[in-house]
Amino acid sequence: MNVVVVGSGGREHALADVLGRTADVVVTPGNPGIANSTPAPATELEADLYVIGPEAPLVDGLADELRAAGKLVFGPGADGARLEGSKAWMKELLVDAGVATAGHGTFTREEPALEFLDTMVPPYVIKTDGLAAGKGVVVTESLTEARNAVGDYLSGAAFGSAGQQLVIEEGLVGPEVSILAICDGQRAVALAPAQDFKRASDHDEGLNTGGMGAYSPVPIVSAHLLDDVMALFVEPTLAALRRRGIDYRGVLYAGLMLTADGPKMLEYNVRFGDPECQVVVPRLTSDLAELLAQAAAGSIVDAPTFTDEAMVTVVCAAQGYPVSPRTGDVITGIDDARAIEGASVYCAGVRTNSAGELVTAGGRVLDVCGRGATLDIARRRAYEAVSKISFAGMLTRTDIAAKAAGQAQK
Ligand code: AMP
Repeated sequence: MNVVVVGSGGREHALADVLGRTADVVVTPGNPGIANSTPAPATELEADLYVIGPEAPLVDGLADELRAAGKLVFGPGADGARLEGSKAWMKELLVDAGVATAGHGTFTREEPALEFLDTMVPPYVIKTDGLAAGKGVVVTESLTEARNAVGDYLSGAAFGSAGQQLVIEEGLVGPEVSILAICDGQRAVALAPAQDFKRASDHDEGLNTGGMGAYSPVPIVSAHLLDDVMALFVEPTLAALRRRGIDYRGVLYAGLMLTADGPKMLEYNVRFGDPECQVVVPRLTSDLAELLAQAAAGSIVDAPTFTDEAMVTVVCAAQGYPVSPRTGDVITGIDDARAIEGASVYCAGVRTNSAGELVTAGGRVLDVCGRGATLDIARRRAYEAVSKISFAGMLTRTDIAAKAAGQAQK
């Protein structure tokens, strides 16, 4: 099978790596750290299957364009991608589907938004309606900060038009888990659960980022909880999409908080999470290309299977991330990192300089992964591999999977 993967980050590198076990893969536009990257757009490449990685091309209708040309595509059309493209629309759909989620209000004007905010209790949660590269969410204990965020969002000062409609949500408390499901329009099958780390610094401090690390499996997600999430969240959502005439073929990524009142949906993403993908997909023991091709064709036959081995990924980010990452610093040590048993490195924000060296070119630069019989072993290998990598100003969290590795050992 020939597969085109669309995207240029660590997620696409991991997808290409695992699809490459059974298929011939080209990545567009890819990056210099990913083999078989090409600048040619997907619409100009011939393949048996097209897998679209990031949310932006999905929201922009790339899947529709390719399907209109008769191609087999894994990824929702623009209609389904609204789940991620508009938080207000997603919340409406969740309510319609009867899915448990945080109470909310949607606003385009400041006065009613501030009035609503005054009725809430901390933590206050303000979200842009539109896409903001995973950064459009403020969670704060401070009413002043929340009120300021409302002003900055609605005026367009903070996120341009993405923030000019906003959602204010009830603040939920509890551990977060990500459940990724592969959907063929009718049926959904679960992938192994993962947990990611959104904050920039250790102990979940600092700014929200696209994600600083992840691990899989997740000890707090039992098989029973996974079944519940599929039955009470993912399947009703797929049914609500169908009622709207949306044939959803792609990833439904459920971001859940396990609250004292049971699991509640925080958000849906319409693609593999980045960096969750990097720890979930390599654990597959069944054929990823076959699974995605079946989903794209509307008929998943078998549920995917996974190794018992754990995976941990640690993001190496550029100095200044997530606000203004510094670029152009030479990266060394990738080969040494890969030489460590169980380690792998996926390339994200990288390019080559005029001397042909690999240099930093974005906020999240590399995903350094460790794999092993337990989370603890996987975690040690990931950090040992990280210790081989260097570039000026490199930022990493030191506590990725630390708690879970401890829990799993008890
Ligand atoms: P989202 O992009 O909606 O997943 O939000 C990013 C992060 O903000 C989540 O991973 C949570 O850590 C946090 N968050 C979002 N919604 C809520 C909420 N209702 N209550 C508490 N934290 C939240």
